[in-house]
Amino acid sequence: MEIRELKTIKIKISKSLQTKIRKGHPWVHFYQVKNISVKGRPGDYGVIYDPDNQFLALGLYDPLSDIRLRILQTGEPAELDAEFFRARLNQAAAIRQSLESQGTTGYRIVNGENDRLPGLTLDRYQNVGVLKLYTQAWFPHLDKIVPWIERDLKLDPCVLLLSRHVERTLLKNAPYRNQTVLQGPELDGPVGFLENGLRFEADVLQGQKTGFFLDQRENRQRVREMAAGKSVLNAFSYTGGFTIGAFAGGARSVLEIDSNGWALKAARENLKLNFPERLTEGNGFEQIQGDAFKALAQLEQEKTFFDIVILDPPAFAKNKKHIQNSLMAYTRLARAGAKRTRDGGILFAASCSAPVKANDFFRAVHLGITSAGKTYEVMERTGHALDHPVAFPEGAYLKGIFCKINGPG
Ligand code: SAH
Repeated sequence: MEIRELKTIKIKISKSLQTKIRKGHPWVHFYQVKNISVKGRPGDYGVIYDPDNQFLALGLYDPLSDIRLRILQTGEPAELDAEFFRARLNQAAAIRQSLESQGTTGYRIVNGENDRLPGLTLDRYQNVGVLKLYTQAWFPHLDKIVPWIERDLKLDPCVLLLSRHVERTLLKNAPYRNQTVLQGPELDGPVGFLENGLRFEADVLQGQKTGFFLDQRENRQRVREMAAGKSVLNAFSYTGGFTIGAFAGGARSVLEIDSNGWALKAARENLKLNFPERLTEGNGFEQIQGDAFKALAQLEQEKTFFDIVILDPPAFAKNKKHIQNSLMAYTRLARAGAKRTRDGGILFAASCSAPVKANDFFRAVHLGITSAGKTYEVMERTGHALDHPVAFPEGAYLKGIFCKINGPG
């Protein structure tokens, strides 16, 4: 690996952004940089001083990212050495300790900026660590982090994943590639783990996110608690997390819809691990491969109804430009879902679009349900679980709503 001296760059920003950063905001975007003292490379240190020339913040600089500086430390200066990162990792791990006693061995240990390690997530699947980077700024610092992942967190092996942006902008001489094994043996297939006592496998290398949507654990548990004897429609089912939850709660039947054949196959594997008898035809489990909007329209023609309808689509809005269109899509989806929900049944709708605010999403769902000619009661609005903490407004991306659907008012 290339060893180079890291520079320290003084970064000037507005007073109002200084105030925000003092209160915990973790980012300086490229358009907010007024001046830099020297040109830097990914992973150089960036320091901000206040108007009295006192230390304000220290972070990692990345000229290849719209977010130029990710803040690691405010208030007191600190040395970003191995002990610094060890403390951050262990603080994050401590928050999640209770999960193990609940039969959960797949969860997020570090949630980026929200655990004060911006641009870095670490997921645990049993003994396997999956470290995902959203900036190359971490590259020169990884050797101060990786040893603790094995020694303190007992994760071995540990695999590195790179975000699409990092992969696209990867420098020729970059010391790491996507799927680099940081320590331990190569992975030779999906990794088994538990969620609330249920068995799953995550394909860390081929899957979406880091292999599993760990962030929906509590919503899957809620579905489990209400599923006894019910027929369930699981739209955007991916590898079947909600399906297994529903069957564990005693659901009579589950119909999965997903456009991805690979995910549907993985869902069958997960079902086999828990309720293999359900895979026999006529035992209450079916799958549709295709577009969920079209499948919902087809189910409408067939006049099929469900006691519980789950709508957990991918992020419709990746950035602010997409917000309006995505809200219309959430409304269309909620409308189609409400139409398929039996009167007295439950509709669960979720959004993982970071730019879409919770209240706007709930309003979109409201419009969808009411335009289907239904009335409803909100049972619960849900957000982030304890392993996905939120430390600043932009960190909140996940929202969900459970609605009891009634007939026309
Ligand atoms: N509910 C899942 C996570 C859903 S992720 C869980 O608990 O694990 C979103 C899923 O939607 C992905 O599996 C993706 O393949 C699927 N998808 C994306 N667009 C789709 C579409 N138009 N119709 C059906 N499925 C779609």
